[in-house]
Amino acid sequence: MEFKNETIRDFSINTERTTLHSVLNSIKDLIPFQIPISTGKLEKFSPNPFIHKNPWSPESIVSKVSLANAKDLEETIQTSKEEGNHWKHLSQDKRSQILNLVADTLVSKKDFIIAVCIWETGKHIMEAEIEFAEAVDFCRYYAMVSKNQLADKHINLLGEDNSYYYQPKGIIGSISPWNFPMAIFTGMCAGPLVTGNIVLAKPAEETSATAYEITKCFWEAGVPKGVLHFLPGLGSEIGEAIVTHPEVSVINFTGSRDVGLSILRKTALVPHGQRIIKKVICELGGKNAMIVDADADLDVAIQSILSSAFGFQGQKCSALSRLFVHNDCYDRLKERLIAAMDGLLIGSPLDFENRIGPVIHEESYLRLSNLQKENERFLIGRTSSVPNTGFYIPPSLYEPPIDSSMWTSEIFGPLLSIQKIFSFSEGIVYANDSDYALTCGVISRNPKHIAQAKLEIEAGNLYINRGITGAVVNRQPFGGGKLSGTGAKAGGPDYIHLFVEGKTYTENTMRQGFSRDTLQ
Ligand code: NAD
Repeated sequence: MEFKNETIRDFSINTERTTLHSVLNSIKDLIPFQIPISTGKLEKFSPNPFIHKNPWSPESIVSKVSLANAKDLEETIQTSKEEGNHWKHLSQDKRSQILNLVADTLVSKKDFIIAVCIWETGKHIMEAEIEFAEAVDFCRYYAMVSKNQLADKHINLLGEDNSYYYQPKGIIGSISPWNFPMAIFTGMCAGPLVTGNIVLAKPAEETSATAYEITKCFWEAGVPKGVLHFLPGLGSEIGEAIVTHPEVSVINFTGSRDVGLSILRKTALVPHGQRIIKKVICELGGKNAMIVDADADLDVAIQSILSSAFGFQGQKCSALSRLFVHNDCYDRLKERLIAAMDGLLIGSPLDFENRIGPVIHEESYLRLSNLQKENERFLIGRTSSVPNTGFYIPPSLYEPPIDSSMWTSEIFGPLLSIQKIFSFSEGIVYANDSDYALTCGVISRNPKHIAQAKLEIEAGNLYINRGITGAVVNRQPFGGGKLSGTGAKAGGPDYIHLFVEGKTYTENTMRQGFSRDTLQ
């Protein structure tokens, strides 16, 4: 089976823009989205929903999200066993075929899903388009690799048959973040589903409407509702209930470091009556660096910095946060970068000219505003034109001392720090001096330095002479090391193995006589 990445549309073409624009506007009538709890046997709205406000126009509400709780979870798990068994025993070919149908169903609803995501997140259309393609790719890619990789392996000798085969792990809790509600949510469901597991999908509160639209595509394509359960709600409530439930065998988590580490602590305990050792997949934050070498092409550097540090308002685990620039080009780069930052247009994502939108919610807005105030004395450049209403944080460049927390804590917003280096090796030392190891970038024309970076840089994904965000399924399996995560490498060939268990049988086939009934 050949795998092809989903095509990305070119929004410089007028008709592409106008089509999506009209869908974006038509959705206004459906807002606020009312999101139910929806599982095999349960379909309900809760009385006190989570309220998510429009990030660029916070006086209006985008979604009202029902809150699942531990009781809903228990009911869901107890009623899903029969359908789960049926799903587990379908052939791998059949489940892969259904996942390919999920991809087709997603594509048929592309504009609508992208539009819901933009309304919930404030993402630029181009970012949303690329993310949507990744969601589709996850389905097709995992469908293909599970077919290719999970076939039984037999080694049969005279008198002895041996088989090594894979079985699903059981019930998987997929707990996802809001920043990639199409791609990450889809991938975190598709991997465990195609390998025969039951999935408890817990979307982020802020992007439950996007996740619900995607979940409906899975169901429509043939994944039973009793196998993929949609459990929106609070992390501290339904998230925690999933993590600690004795029958959930894998916690597939993507999110913040604090929550990830707390999940690892909780799941290390095996309460009385729990018959499994839980597996925890934690894909966490980043504090990503870029090194600009003495001979760097500054056009490439500026483009790469702008997109990596400020794309989706810096709200990416892979976003650039620490910039190390060689003394030889430091002043020139700084001057050009500050000028380029001032040219960035900030505003509502409904106007496609705006490259920078709002941050996700008031909490982020206040946190980032405070961080800006605390570091005002180190500020050296900032986008000047910012709308008055909406959760807008202007892209900002700081020159803080190297022992400042600006260099160590994940910021998750469009605030970038810059530091001068005097050699490429010094840049590598700084880049590696972090708890995190997710993405890293090198802008250089020196082949020796590029080779050195490949050997020495501590990052799950290293990008050379380009931006450091965006990972294409199959081509760039994604995930970090150190405290950035357990290295799941989403979109790579090993991902599906996280949700299966290898089993072996060996049979003595030397005949020991015949049992009576086989003689008739
Ligand atoms: P978050 O940790 O606040 O929430 C992530 C999910 O966990 C949400 O669904 C939330 O409801 C749930 N949750 C919260 N508390 C919980 C608890 N006690 N028990 C169980 N579940 C709980 O993260 P976020 O703000 O949604 O996302 C941003 C973070 O995610 C950033 O740190 C970013 O770097 C990281 N991230 C990492 C990757 C990666 O691939 N490494 C990708 C995207 C985002």
